[in-house]
Amino acid sequence: MIKTEKILHLKSSRGRKVRVVREHYLREQVPCYSSLCQADCANASGKVLSGEATHYVVPDVGVAADYLEILEFRELQGVVFTQTACQSVQHSKGRRQYNRLRSLLKDPRHDCVLFANEFQEYSYCPREKGESQDKWQTRCVYYAAVWYHDHLAGMKPVVMITEDQAAVAQYSSLNSGVYVISIQDYLQNFWPELQAAHELYGSISQALQEKESESTEREYAEHLPAEVLEAGIKSGRYIQGTLNVNRHRAQYEAFIRMEGSTNKNTALNSDVLVCGSKNRNRAVHGDVVVVELLPKSEWRGKITALTEGQAEEKTGEDPQSQPMPTGRVVGILQRNWRDYVVTFPPREETQSQSRNSQRILVMPWDQRIPKIRISTQQADALQDHRVVVRLDSWESTSLYPNGHSVRVLGRAGELETEVQTILIENCIHVPPFSEAQLREMPVNSPEKPWRVDPGQAAVRRDLRNSHLVFSIDPRGCEDVDDTLSVRSLPGGEVLELGVHIADVTHFVTEGSLTDLEARARSTTYYLADRRYDMLPAVLSADLCSLLGGVDRYAMSVLWELDARTLAVNKVWYGRTLIRSSYQLHYELAQALLNGEEAEVPELAQLGAEEKDAKLAQLTQALETLTHIARHLRAQRDRGGALELEGVEVRAQLDEERNITALVPRQPLEVHETVAECMIYANHWVARKIQESFPQQALLRHHPPPRQEFFCQLVDSAKARGFSIDTRSNKALADSLDRAVDPQDPLVNRLLRVMATQAMSNALYFSTGACAQDQYYHYGLALDRYTHFTSPIRRYADMVVHRLLTAAINLEKGAGPSKALASNKDLEEMAQHINNKNRAAQQAQRLSTELFQCLYFKEKDPQTDQRCVADAVIYAIRANGVLVFVPQYGLKGAVYMRNREGQVLNVGQDGSCEWQSGSIQRYLDHISTSCSSGTSTFSLFDHITVRISVQPSRCHSDGLHLDVISNKPHQSAEPRPPQQQGRCQLVQEVVRLAEEASQQAQEKAARGPKLSREEREFRQSKSPNLYSLLEEVRELALMDLSSCGGSGLGMAAQVCATSA
Ligand SMILES: [Zn+2]
Repeated sequence: MIKTEKILHLKSSRGRKVRVVREHYLREQVPCYSSLCQADCANASGKVLSGEATHYVVPDVGVAADYLEILEFRELQGVVFTQTACQSVQHSKGRRQYNRLRSLLKDPRHDCVLFANEFQEYSYCPREKGESQDKWQTRCVYYAAVWYHDHLAGMKPVVMITEDQAAVAQYSSLNSGVYVISIQDYLQNFWPELQAAHELYGSISQALQEKESESTEREYAEHLPAEVLEAGIKSGRYIQGTLNVNRHRAQYEAFIRMEGSTNKNTALNSDVLVCGSKNRNRAVHGDVVVVELLPKSEWRGKITALTEGQAEEKTGEDPQSQPMPTGRVVGILQRNWRDYVVTFPPREETQSQSRNSQRILVMPWDQRIPKIRISTQQADALQDHRVVVRLDSWESTSLYPNGHSVRVLGRAGELETEVQTILIENCIHVPPFSEAQLREMPVNSPEKPWRVDPGQAAVRRDLRNSHLVFSIDPRGCEDVDDTLSVRSLPGGEVLELGVHIADVTHFVTEGSLTDLEARARSTTYYLADRRYDMLPAVLSADLCSLLGGVDRYAMSVLWELDARTLAVNKVWYGRTLIRSSYQLHYELAQALLNGEEAEVPELAQLGAEEKDAKLAQLTQALETLTHIARHLRAQRDRGGALELEGVEVRAQLDEERNITALVPRQPLEVHETVAECMIYANHWVARKIQESFPQQALLRHHPPPRQEFFCQLVDSAKARGFSIDTRSNKALADSLDRAVDPQDPLVNRLLRVMATQAMSNALYFSTGACAQDQYYHYGLALDRYTHFTSPIRRYADMVVHRLLTAAINLEKGAGPSKALASNKDLEEMAQHINNKNRAAQQAQRLSTELFQCLYFKEKDPQTDQRCVADAVIYAIRANGVLVFVPQYGLKGAVYMRNREGQVLNVGQDGSCEWQSGSIQRYLDHISTSCSSGTSTFSLFDHITVRISVQPSRCHSDGLHLDVISNKPHQSAEPRPPQQQGRCQLVQEVVRLAEEASQQAQEKAARGPKLSREEREFRQSKSPNLYSLLEEVRELALMDLSSCGGSGLGMAAQVCATSA
């Protein structure tokens, strides 16, 4: 080892120059991480470059800093990042970019490695006297490239890429086999097909050029230096929090949500209001910021009136609530920028905007994000298109942030473009599974059928002959992840209940590409017309699906229960081998239980006698199961389980979601039986892993709601003469059961919706991150709970399966095969999964709204009777009411005062018209007065509304509701509700979209763009019916969720989370 000195001239974040001298040790042995290595490099400890690349590519410092996004394309192979380049990114680009580079290096899906060139004796170049830092770094990277070429004995050509033309001239002909070229040349020569990378290159390089010519006039106050911010937070002078922009008043109103312990200013127990863009000082929704409070005299209140979308910019004279702490942003601790979907302005606007330059202002789809300035030559071609954009910077001299375009999604308003927009806006990335990933999958084909491995058969408990195993699912279900068994043990004193779950983690090794992809997705995504699976189909629909009549691996829980008291004597957990005898659907199982005539397909071929015997055995098992489930449910009820969720959800199925065409109106008891067994398995697995790993088990809790959130529920119920007791889950459930208006079943339902909205979400957590008294699941009334029963479509369940396996091994005295995730890592994972679940819910809600808008867009609200519907008032606001439209399951605002200040006046026959007058809000009603009299609208009144679409060019379309009568809607021709379902709605919209896309394809002969993205996002489009059925199943295991949303759009109904 050689010791030397390395002198660095660094620039601090505020431009100060710092000279650093470091002792520097050089070694002969520095791993090359190449699979072609002929020397003895210690490559085993890290990721290794595949041999598949035709060359290795070494980006120089500038390329790594400015064009990292291009190097992130998974198509690129054999990328070697030098230590020189990495350190430079760290120093010049800050933490965000550096973390991005580090996670790229860690990710096994990317074929790239880090070479510690400055520690390698033969590649390190000491800095020469008078040599500039840039020149020196370029030389270092070049000699690293040369070293690779020599080290691998010339087996691979090595390409250094640089934007420095002088470097190209200086080095390109120095060594044969080591090429020095620009990125543009590199992409053109090596990746001519990778169109997206070429476009991205153009976009980034243009943004960099424009940056040079910034103006110097200041638009915003400078941010304070990091040390000042830190000291200020410590002393309590400043407050740290996350910026949350009000969607409906995006330019005016934002709040700082405080982060618990980090703030010393304990006098504050509310959010901090930030008014206007100057006070927001370049912070973007989601950023972690530091604010300074304004003097009390400048505090303001938030606005409580309804507003229509973002249309109105509100100012101070509007009705406001109590003044609240108000502040201004003085610094930004962390940018949380993501990819944004934007719309290009129409041609007239771009012309006025950019006479001299190619810069235009694009409008983000998310109303909370400010306009973004980008440089482009495609403004004309892309008008009316939706485009993905990334932010680069926001200088104090610039009114708007600068960004660059990443790729084009398609024309605004088209179904595919809009669906992709929803995915990107929720950070959902669901590319087709890669080939490398599919290579990890087991094979099951007619030529090479999958068989049970004898080694596995030897270590698993074989239940194939001893247990009658069956599944009960919605009709047509493909991915059966749970099965059941129940039997009486010899002697008749003991019942044995079994829950057998697909053994997904047997097929998906921790850390494999499939595992990483599943973790990244965290869940299967269900949109209105399609789904994106978490796992490849060979697992989800085949080898992990516990289909009837085939051998499958399972993870089982078997309880021995006292036959009389049903008390648990013993629980067994372990890996099993099963063969399900019956794949039942709910209706069939219920028919058997009811003693009705029913044909079981599995028995169709048998003779009468054998058939009867088997049928009797199956029916007996179903009856025992029902008996046990009733007992379990009663046990939880005594503990205070909320019936609420179930009732709400079943109501949803009937009308809001209109799946009534698919499932019977009356919920079947067998739904509840299956759900109860799954809840039981989840609960016992939670106990097991928590006891084995008290500091690092993944559980799911449901925190009790905050009492103040129940105000609306309690007040509304009181208006109708009911009293709601919210002191405990049991009291709440009981009082809701009593709050029934025999004249109007919707009253009870709306009260339950309000109760649901007051609840918080159930969340995953690591046991070490939470005190034990917070493990409680409020909705299910269980002290411990987790997710174990759906590993095919939830990553949390896969984590739990691994924990359970480790717990079983621990008991056997065998050490874990792999170190368990630490509490910190597990908690991080739990947060990741929680975020992804939220995104999945949000995307599902948005896609439903999208379909509703597309549905109504085709209809003329003035003439089409389908646009007129009955609505129920469920909340009163200052200038209108919120209503629920049962027929379409949507919620929205209805205004009683319009923008001209006129109010709604009701005539003798109930019809409504605008007149000048005044409006008065009360607790349970709202009144308008004009010369011709007074009109009143009360809570729970049924009124008639007209539904129309409020189109938006840049954002999503919205639905608009107008009152046309204060009387309930009398439908001219009563339609059976089944026919008007969401299912039909989805189908009709899909049909129209397909017609449109056919027409577009004819046009597309001129420009064959976008088809790659379209293919990429159409992953599984067909199974509409399936995904609806799947939701039914999901709903069977629902728990409560809050949605907090209000104003236009549907809220709580559609976004309950799973228990
Ligand atoms: Zn080597």
